Amino acid sequence: MSQSTFKRKAHKGFFTRCLQALPSSAEAHDANRITIAFFCLGGLYLLGELSPSDKDRQDWTEWIWSLQSPEGGFAGSPHAPKVQGHLPSTYTALCCLALLGSPMDRLDKPALRRFLKSCQAEDGSFAPTPDTEGMFQNDARMSYCAVVCGTVADSGTEGEGRTGGFNKQKAAEYLRRCQTWEGGFASRPGVVEAQGGMTYCALSSLALLGELKGNTELEEEATRWLSQRQIGGFQGRPGKLEDVCYSFWCGGALAALGHSDLVNEEPNTAFLLNSQSPLGGFGKAPEDYPDPFHSYLALTALAMTPAREQLGLAEIDPVWNLAPEMRDRLLKPVP
Ligand SMILES: [Zn+2]
Repeated sequence: MSQSTFKRKAHKGFFTRCLQALPSSAEAHDANRITIAFFCLGGLYLLGELSPSDKDRQDWTEWIWSLQSPEGGFAGSPHAPKVQGHLPSTYTALCCLALLGSPMDRLDKPALRRFLKSCQAEDGSFAPTPDTEGMFQNDARMSYCAVVCGTVADSGTEGEGRTGGFNKQKAAEYLRRCQTWEGGFASRPGVVEAQGGMTYCALSSLALLGELKGNTELEEEATRWLSQRQIGGFQGRPGKLEDVCYSFWCGGALAALGHSDLVNEEPNTAFLLNSQSPLGGFGKAPEDYPDPFHSYLALTALAMTPAREQLGLAEIDPVWNLAPEMRDRLLKPVP
């Protein structure tokens, strides 16, 4: 069944319900909660419907700041033995604080730089925490979180101070080594199969690092691989079914490369709208149950289409996976 009308009200209800399931104080003991909060707050913002009560806004903001570790970064949970920084939680905490309009004056940038440096491995990759044993969790997603956090940590500093605390050259080399013979990027060097989400993380990180400079072989091969992922909506790798999240991962990666023009908009938009749930939110494909992750990424994907204004969605900066206004809040120097 085609669902070409945009179910704005139902989506607002979906994100609001998911947010209410979150604790307003320190009851949380699940690192996923900060991530779910990001998808819900970000989704409501894109809909132009992010207007929590003053009390909710204050409670959520204080909850997130309470997760900042004295050693830098943010924890996913206040119930760990001590508040210890966790890289993906740090990324989503910063995005949530921007969405909630919290000034960044409480962000301990020197500690954040030290934290990022301590997560970086010799090969340029990043671990989720400084004391993660082994490197099995180091991948392009961790690099993306580190590069975004490092860019925020650098805002307000000039010239040689803009290191994010870590070795940017090595970080970029690691990401380039994730590119496979197919043209897309894998989770880590040596993994054979490229994947849409990893390709987004690698290319957006390289863009933020100032390492995507136009017309290199790397970019041409990535562009070809990404545009071949469209089969109406986008698939994450050859031979797989289309899934709304890849309209963002692949579409966002093409945007980072300056090739949004290669997206065939009509079938992409139709697939996204057909994946709306009658109850609000989006599943990964039509008839699937909605979840906050696919719902947020479906909206960010729609925000990159020519239908954006007609649907009444805010703009998105594809590389940041945030509205330009939110990106600027994160980068605004603190007086
Ligand atoms: Zn998906």
